Amino acid sequence: MSRKKVLVLGGNFGGLTAALAVSRELHSDVDVRVISASDRFLFNPSLIWLPFGKRRPADITFPLAPTFESHGIEFVHAEATAIDLASQKVMATSGAYSHDCLVIAAGYRNNFGVVPGLGPDGNAYTITTMEDAIHAGEGWRRFFENPETSWWALARAPGASARVLPAAQGWPEQAGEADLHVAGAVPRPLRHRRAAAPPARRRQPDDGQARERNSRSS
Ligand SMILES: Cc1cc2nc3c(=O)[nH]c(=O)nc-3n(C[C@H](O)[C@H](O)[C@H](O)COP(=O)(O)OP(=O)(O)OC[C@H]3O[C@@H](n4cnc5c(N)ncnc54)[C@H](O)[C@@H]3O)c2cc1C
Repeated sequence: MSRKKVLVLGGNFGGLTAALAVSRELHSDVDVRVISASDRFLFNPSLIWLPFGKRRPADITFPLAPTFESHGIEFVHAEATAIDLASQKVMATSGAYSHDCLVIAAGYRNNFGVVPGLGPDGNAYTITTMEDAIHAGEGWRRFFENPETSWWALARAPGASARVLPAAQGWPEQAGEADLHVAGAVPRPLRHRRAAAPPARRRQPDDGQARERNSRSS
């Protein structure tokens, strides 16, 4: 009996796990091939640290080829461009690949178009891809250089308010607008200025809360 061809598109969490699991479980019965647009695994939960210089790209990625090759899996660094279900073929930038079983683990794409101005080409940064996280870091550093002209400083001007669009979070049934007054939170670059200013009068907790805290701490 000929070995079944398993083709996996994408080499990150989904693709890597699927390819390794199929290869391990059905070792002698399958040929596993992975096609991935990226030749490195990306631990994307750590993208959050990149804009702030807490991680570098090399800290949160590793090359895919050695991992796959050490498990007898063929790795192709290419982008899949079309899937022909009838002929069971995937077209990629490196050629056409036939398969008996196809695993699609190519991830998701942000749809910035749902809200005007959203996304890297608009007024907001994201960190869901390496490229976007690097871009967000550039924006963060620009903010440090000139915090007074940043959108945040403008939003904190007297009477300013920011608009929150729940639809942007993927819940169209909650689409609508709510005014969020930007008041309490202060980004780090501005904190030292506030510290240097005379202390603002702080709101005192009501007597009941204060009494409860005192009794707990004693
Ligand atoms: C900041 C952040 C924090 C997160 N934190 C958590 C967490 O704490 N817990 C949790 O469970 N999840 C978390 N997630 C979500 C988690 O990272 C994703 O669910 C996971 O990455 C999805 O894995 P995936 O393999 O399906 O897709 P991806 O990781 O997006 O990988 C897709 C792969 O497919 C490749 N590809 C794309 N298009 C093609 C193509 N046409 N041809 C070939 N290859 C292609 C890409 O190059 C990539 O290698 C977080 C995500 C982010 C961004």
